[in-house]
Parts: sequence; structure tokens; C-alpha cells
Amino acid sequence: MSGPASPILPGATLGVMGGGQLGRMFVHAAQRLGYFTAVLDADPQSPAGLVSHHHIQTGYSDPAGLAQLAALCAAITTEFENVPADALAQLAASRPVAPGAAAVAIAQDRLQEKAHFSACAAASGVACAPYAVLQTPDQLAAVPATLLPGILKTARMGYDGKGQVRVKTAAELAAAWSDLKQVPCVLEKMLPLQAELSVLVARGRDGQVVSFAPQRNVHVNGILAVTHAYEGCLPPALVARARAATEAIAAQIGYVGLMCVEFFVVTGADGQDTLVVNEMAPRPHNSGHYTLDACDVSQFDLQVHAMAGLPLPAPRQHSPAIMLNLLGDIWFDSSGRERTPDWCAVLALPGTHLHLYGKTEARRGRKMGHLTLTGADLAGVQASARAAAGLLGLPDLPGQEGL
Ligand code: ATP
Ligand code: MG
Repeated sequence: MSGPASPILPGATLGVMGGGQLGRMFVHAAQRLGYFTAVLDADPQSPAGLVSHHHIQTGYSDPAGLAQLAALCAAITTEFENVPADALAQLAASRPVAPGAAAVAIAQDRLQEKAHFSACAAASGVACAPYAVLQTPDQLAAVPATLLPGILKTARMGYDGKGQVRVKTAAELAAAWSDLKQVPCVLEKMLPLQAELSVLVARGRDGQVVSFAPQRNVHVNGILAVTHAYEGCLPPALVARARAATEAIAAQIGYVGLMCVEFFVVTGADGQDTLVVNEMAPRPHNSGHYTLDACDVSQFDLQVHAMAGLPLPAPRQHSPAIMLNLLGDIWFDSSGRERTPDWCAVLALPGTHLHLYGKTEARRGRKMGHLTLTGADLAGVQASARAAAGLLGLPDLPGQEGL
């Protein structure tokens, strides 16, 4: 990204493409520092639009909307990786945009993303899961049996496990690809995951890099359910490797902004834990929400700093943390009737930090908020997290077992 040499100081207006909860928490962080904010999202009720100084209610590719955003803002970021890369490129003609269109384009397409991971493998020291590209019937016929059972993933527009089908046989694969209208896909070998983790990294225009220690993530039905973030949640050797790999993955493309890289841990043939890189998000990430309450600088603060060209403080975690994702499911009782979760009981627990995103309609699988538990010691945090999970009707804290 080419940008002004001097930082964009508080008092200026910062813009964000997308109005979801990540945009909302970006807006909060920017406003706390004294910036004005502008959100571009067509939904009049979007979580970020509701709290921003300006809300441009157009589609992501609307020329008038983009022109208005560029006119209002001194710099622009994104909260959603499926914003058309062309729209970011258009904005970048007149304003600094971080991350840039090229980085977002890589993250939008699993084929490009895997090619990027392969290109950095020497520097990052990690590979992705074995996979095959599926774009033509010939490629389908040539899929090696060693990739089965596998997961068929659409190359584009996947999130929260959407656009993914688990397949055991060549016949199931052919049927699943046909159900997906034979759009470009990858077939990934199904790996026996020991654990999942992710790393947040921020990189400035000048190449300065800071990162958070990895957090350990537990997914249920393809959606993040719980994040564990405390010393000892992962073996120290993996922590160092994951952090170094993430920094290499960001540096290789001259990334500017806040990025999250997801990894799997699998046991190699030698019995050692091996890191496998899964995907990258060119924005803050659900697994990094604990940084709001457990760290002196959050992932959203660093997003603001990086896009504005401010110094990047190395974040320090001051408390162990467990984050529980709050999906719309808990707004329904066992017979399907709508209810309001018992927030007062949850808030009475020690160390609770409740974040609700201002979404008025609860739907199953919809991310409505999250709850972070912090405390002076891990045992207390785990006790609060278990109690909160019980009160909210969530499964009993998966992911406590050690590696
Ligand atoms: P996100 O919400 O993170 O964007 P996504 O829809 O892009 O998710 P992935 O991250 O590729 O999808 O996969 C979702 C989850 O499915 C992973 O976190 C992991 O639990 C499981 N998974 C994905 N790929 C594999 C694999 N090759 N082997 C085993 N499990 C996998
Ligand atoms: Mg993922």
C-alpha cells in the first residue's frame, strides 16, 4: 500500500467496509482514540452502522457509496474478507486502504491462499493440509484416493463452515461437487486434529510487526465455540512456531493491518506435534475477542493503529481468559420457544465481560455476542466459564484437555 508518510492522527475520520460485529468493535476502538468513523453497509440496522458517526447505506460496489466513503475518510479498512477486492482497489486510488486489495484477494480465494502458504513455506516452516484443486471434471477424476476421507470446500465465499461438505468416497465427492454446481473447490484431506489455534499479527506500513501469543480454539459444527487464551493452553514450542509462521505469512505479502492465521495441530508420523496452516483472515477475528478484556491492547486497537500509521505497541496479556461465543441458539429453549438468556445470573459471576452486538433478531448459528471470562488465576476463570456455560445452556467447556 502506498500511503502518506505521516500518521493519520485522532480527529480524522476512519472508514470501514462492512457493518458487522467486527466493524462495530473497530468503531468502538477508533472512537475511544478520538477518531470519527464511517461504516459502509447496506443494512440500516448493521451492528457497526448503529454506533458509527457516519453510516453509508449502499452495497460494497456502489460507486456513489464508495466515493462518499473516500470523501469522508482519511483511511479505510475492512471487517469482512468478502468485500470485492475491486472496491478496495478503487478506494486505494485516493486513500490509504489497509489491508490492501491484493492481500484481501488472496484471503478470498482458497486456491490463492494455499498458493500463498506454499510460497511462504520455506520462511514460515509450515505447510497446509494435503489438497487437490477441483475446477474441471478431469481434476475430479484424478483426485488421489489418499485425500479421502476429505472436506470439499468452495474456493470462495466460505465462512463458519458454510460451503463445506465432508466426503468419504469418490462417489460422495462427485455428488457433493455436483450439488455445489461444480464451482471451483479444493478437496482437503481430513486430518485428525489434536487441537486448533490461531495467531493475531499486526503489521505497520514501515514493516513493524507485533503479535499476540496463539489462542486455542474449539469449533462445534464448523463454528468457533470456545477460545482458551492463557499460558499453558498450548505447548511452548508450538507457540513460538505458530507466531513465527504467522509473521512470515504477513511479511511475505507486505501486509499492512491486523491479520489472523488459523492453524491445526496434528500428530506427525514421528509422534511429534506438527503445525498445519489452515487459512488467513485479513481482519480481526472471532478468536481474538478475548484481547478486548484480557490484554492491554486489543486486536481492534492494533487494527486502528496499523491503518492510521501509528506506532504498534506490543500487546501484553494481563489475565488468563476464556471466551464463549454466544450464538442465536441460546435465545431458544428446548421446545423452541424464544427466551432471553439470564444475563443477570451470568453477570453475577466473577470476571465476566458480556459483549452483545445489537442484533435484534436471534437465529440459530448467528453470532449474537460473546462472553469473556477473566480473573487473577486460571482455576477461577475456568470455574466462571463452566458456570456461565451451564447458565446459558452451552455444552460443558470443550477444549480443557491438554495436548
Ligand atoms: P471460518 O469461520 O474460520 O472462516 P471456514 O468456513 O472458512 O471457517 P475452515 O476454517 O476451513 O472453514 O474450517 C472450519 C472448521 O472445520 C475448522 O476450524 C476445523 O475444525 C474443521 N476443518 C477444516 N478443514 C479441516 C481438515 N482438513 N481436517 C479436519 N478438520 C478440518
Ligand atoms: Mg476457519
